[in-house]
Amino acid sequence: MKQSTAIAIHGGAGVLTPDAFGVAERDEVHRALREALSAGDVILRAGGTSLDAVEAAVIALEECPWFNAGKGAVFTDEGEHELDAAIMDGARRDAGAVAGIRHLRNPVRGARAVMERSEHLMLIGGGADRFLAGHDLPQVENAWFDTELRRRQWREQRQGGERVSLEPGAPGYKFGTVGAVALDAAGHVAAATSTGGITNKRFGRVGDSPLIGAGTWADDRAVAVSATGHGEYFIRAAVAHEIAARIRHGGASLEAACRDVVQGELKELGGSGGVIAVAPEGELRLEFNTPGMYRAWRGRDGSLHTAIFADEDRRHP
Ligand code: ASP
Repeated sequence: MKQSTAIAIHGGAGVLTPDAFGVAERDEVHRALREALSAGDVILRAGGTSLDAVEAAVIALEECPWFNAGKGAVFTDEGEHELDAAIMDGARRDAGAVAGIRHLRNPVRGARAVMERSEHLMLIGGGADRFLAGHDLPQVENAWFDTELRRRQWREQRQGGERVSLEPGAPGYKFGTVGAVALDAAGHVAAATSTGGITNKRFGRVGDSPLIGAGTWADDRAVAVSATGHGEYFIRAAVAHEIAARIRHGGASLEAACRDVVQGELKELGGSGGVIAVAPEGELRLEFNTPGMYRAWRGRDGSLHTAIFADEDRRHP
């Protein structure tokens, strides 16, 4: 059945199992996911664009300290925050990205500003921060992104003597990147992704999230994808574009393309994580090879759903 609009979001994948959470904590995450989904959904329902919808949903997730993007971003090995984000418009296959930025309150706004207000596609570090400071976008001190939870995780990581903990079984193995994909009534898809990266990452490290074709991709001819997981592997597998290519050139269904890339190609390399994807016909797919992925989507009947663990489905009236 063709659906006029569709939306899904994620808030990261990893070792998310019921015993890792208190009930109150879980409820808060579900509420935050539902609110972020609604922020995008109201735009679609009012006839807005998928680009505006994914940006609004990602801003809501960036504002929520539970997720590793914007407020609540993880710490680098130098005890600061370096933020990455990307946005892509499936209608024009235009995109914008920022990496290693330190002062923009909502990095996804920065990605969009690079797309719409510069002659470039991607800006990084000090140059990106300088460009963004020249626009009317909220700026903050780097310490504004601090939270006690992330500082604790950072200290634990360093005490463990490991640079970054990426073994799927490790207790701290939890990604928190955020992203959104949407289809609007005009038939256009869009995707956006935003992240603080990985706890204790080397200063200057960039993951898959802001790389067009790795963590973020949108093309009206195939699919819009936003990814979360161990970025180095997502880059090596060009995950988001690989899914699109299987659909466009290989005739794969959305379901088969997402499954075969996330459970096959990516896993074979050793990569953990997941993706959310929307096809121009309105079909959604949320696929992950970790025990859980923070996620939310609108059902075909218009109801909103949130989930953390595999096979979970909390329906919101
Ligand atoms: N993909 C992100 C990165 O590697 C991390 C995440 O998904 O949480 O930077």
